[in-house]
Amino acid sequence: MKKGLCLTVCFLITGSILPGLADTAFAFDGISRSFLKAGSLLAAVLGIVGISIAGFLAGKSYDSYTGWERFTHGAGQFFNREPFQKDSPTYEKTDQHERLHHVDNLIARIKSFAMLMAPPPGGGEPKWSPDMGVEALPEPLKTYYLKDTAAYSQTLKALQLMQKQKEDWSKWETQFAIADYWSKAFGSLFEAAILYPEDPKGSPEEWDFRFIHRKSPLRFKSPAHASKLIKKITHTFGATLVGVTKLNPDWVYQGHLRGVGTGDYEVPKHWEYAIVFATPHEWDMFYSNAVYGTSFDAYSRERIIGTRLENFIQQLGYPARAHVPPMHYDLITPPIAVDAGLGEQGRMGMLITPELGANARLAVVTTNIPMEVDKPIDFGVKEFCKKCKICAERCVTGAISHADEPNIEFGYKRWRIKCELCFQVWCSMATSEPGRGCRVCLAVCPYSRKNNWLHTLSRHIDSRDPTGISSSMLLWMQKKIFKYPEARDFMPPPEGSNATYHKPPDWLVTEEWFDVDKTW
Ligand code: SF4
Ligand code: SF4
Repeated sequence: MKKGLCLTVCFLITGSILPGLADTAFAFDGISRSFLKAGSLLAAVLGIVGISIAGFLAGKSYDSYTGWERFTHGAGQFFNREPFQKDSPTYEKTDQHERLHHVDNLIARIKSFAMLMAPPPGGGEPKWSPDMGVEALPEPLKTYYLKDTAAYSQTLKALQLMQKQKEDWSKWETQFAIADYWSKAFGSLFEAAILYPEDPKGSPEEWDFRFIHRKSPLRFKSPAHASKLIKKITHTFGATLVGVTKLNPDWVYQGHLRGVGTGDYEVPKHWEYAIVFATPHEWDMFYSNAVYGTSFDAYSRERIIGTRLENFIQQLGYPARAHVPPMHYDLITPPIAVDAGLGEQGRMGMLITPELGANARLAVVTTNIPMEVDKPIDFGVKEFCKKCKICAERCVTGAISHADEPNIEFGYKRWRIKCELCFQVWCSMATSEPGRGCRVCLAVCPYSRKNNWLHTLSRHIDSRDPTGISSSMLLWMQKKIFKYPEARDFMPPPEGSNATYHKPPDWLVTEEWFDVDKTW
């Protein structure tokens, strides 16, 4: 775009100067006026050529794309990662690192509780109720909670809060009607009946190969060609950011495998590489977290990309499995995105990218296409998080660590999130279902900012300043100039006031569009 503009200006200047020069020079020499006409004609032609070239370049520029196509072919991945590339990720690995267990996933545990506490389909008593106690829980839940009794009581409290949340919804339904129905419209794409991609119904050795019809895979010219094409295609499928890495087996859950069930499994041999991709939430909705926000918009976009990519790769003749939100994963996504250089893990446990901050929802496709991999990056997040702590200060239940240094979990250094406390907030917000969640920590994070010149400047200065002076200044401005609601305000009355980080956009505000009695 800029190149085109410069060329146009050059041609136009040349076009306007030439006739003047011709007038002076040729008139002085008394040469025929036909030369003057030739000069003007040349200037006009040059002007037209300039405009045409500028128009052609502008048409090629990503700036000319609109809507989701703005991100096609990687236009959303505008931060040059090369100066920040490292040989190892900024989370540190200790000698005692281990593979995650499926029971370590909070949502997996909550699902188990839901199944245990529901009456069996044929009638009768549920398999478990809170009065039976932790000892009566089946394995591996029992061992998990016997080791962490605080987490057990916090989960029971969340389950009670969930009941109250359901009862209270009638108080809020009109106020947050558009937000709730908008969220559910996206969520409808992953109801069991119309699930994209379909949940695996077989082992990875069968399911991940089901669309392969070729006798042999199409061979790429080189791993670099493979990774370049796969990234381009993933962008055209709707991804904003895409990275490729070798899959670290520690990020694959043990104890459960989709399509097979519970048990001990090795990481499937063909899960050699991970293609990890991110999309943001709609920005204005994202800033109006907690009560007007939802995770389902980005989730459903990720699911569609995952469905397309899994199918495309299998048609090329290679196995592929999509691991997509909200809970259809055999692995954990943020560290994979860190390994693939999309960003770094923040204090609040989520990926922080240079382009989208923490407004980046993730999904992964595992495959065995030999691809050139990306390097992890260090653009200063860990050091910034040590000073910042804004997310920890605004989290209602204190789920985010305030510690200066990261803890060690599964043999890796990272700030630990108390997931049960976070889930208590999900079960307390004024929403129709806990799945709508909270996300206040993502919205308040200083990295989660739209793309404008000021944020671009801050991004580049902070990540290149080894002294830490600019990050301290940016943080000071963030805390002193911008006002945030207090943590409690995000809760529903009487504890809080259903506060939002930013004012919600008008299209999410029910009373702007509907004839309702405003009682709030
Ligand atoms: S989502 Fe809300 S409750 Fe959970 S960690 Fe973030 S701020 Fe805390
Ligand atoms: S809010 Fe601050 S401390 Fe929290 S993740 Fe973002 S930068 Fe790190």
